[in-house]
Amino acid sequence: MRTKIVAGNWKMNKTASEAAALIDGIKKELAGFTQVEAVVCPPFTDLKEAAAACAGSNVALGAQNVHWEASGAFTGEISAAMLKDLGVKYVIVGHSERRQYFGETDETVNKRTKAALAAGLIPLVCVGETLEERDGGKMESVVVRQTKAGLDGLGADLSKVVVAYEPVWAIGTGRTASPAQAQEVHALIRRTLAEIGGKAVADTIRIQYGGSMKPDNAKELMSQPDIDGGLIGGAALKADSFAAIIKAGA
Ligand code: PEP
Repeated sequence: MRTKIVAGNWKMNKTASEAAALIDGIKKELAGFTQVEAVVCPPFTDLKEAAAACAGSNVALGAQNVHWEASGAFTGEISAAMLKDLGVKYVIVGHSERRQYFGETDETVNKRTKAALAAGLIPLVCVGETLEERDGGKMESVVVRQTKAGLDGLGADLSKVVVAYEPVWAIGTGRTASPAQAQEVHALIRRTLAEIGGKAVADTIRIQYGGSMKPDNAKELMSQPDIDGGLIGGAALKADSFAAIIKAGA
C-alpha cells in the first residue's frame, strides 16, 4: 500500500515571512490529518523560516532543486548537504521549467538525483512530454527515456525516489490530463520502473501527477490505480486549495 504524497511547488513565489504564514495556514487546515503526506517546496531563501514553521507538524519540507557537487566554485548553486542541514526532506529534480529555461538534461537530472539520495534527501524526479511531443506520437518514448535516464544507476536507492509525471502541456495552463490519460502514462512509468528495478520495487514507488491539479479534479485523478499523489503549482499557493487537494487523496 503506497501512502499518497502531495507536494506544493511554490516556484519563485513568496518571501520568507509569507512562507511562514502560508505554512501556518496549511497546518491549521490539516490539523489531525495524516492519511496523505504533505510537502511544501518553497524557494531556497525561505527554507530556514519554512523549516521552523514545519517543525513538529505533519507538513514536510522540500526544495526545488539541488546541485550534484558537494561544494566548490559553483556560483549560485546549492548542495544537498546545505539542504539537509536546514531540515529539508524532499527535493524536486528535473522540473520541466528547469529543462525548458535552464538547460536541464536527462544527464544532469540523473546527477542531481544521485546527489540528493547520497545526502539522504528524497528526490521528486519529474518527467513529462511537451504538447509537440504528444501530438507527434512521441509521448511514450520521451517519458520512458526521461525515466530510464533520470533514474539510471541508482541500485537499491531506486526504491526511495518519488516520480512526478507532469505533462508539460498541462502545467500552469488550466488544461489537465484526463484521469484516463494520466493513468495510462503512470502505468507506463510503473512498467518502466519494473524494467529498471523489478516489479516488487516498482510497486512501492510513488508516482505523482502534476499539471493543473485543483481541488475539483484531485479526487478523480488520485483515485486512479497508479496515481499516488500530486505535484501542485498554482493551487499550492493558498492554504485552503492546497489542503483540499491533500485531503482529496485520502
Ligand atoms: C508544476 O509546476 O509542477 C505544476 C504542476 O503547476 P500547476 O499545478 O500550476 O499546473
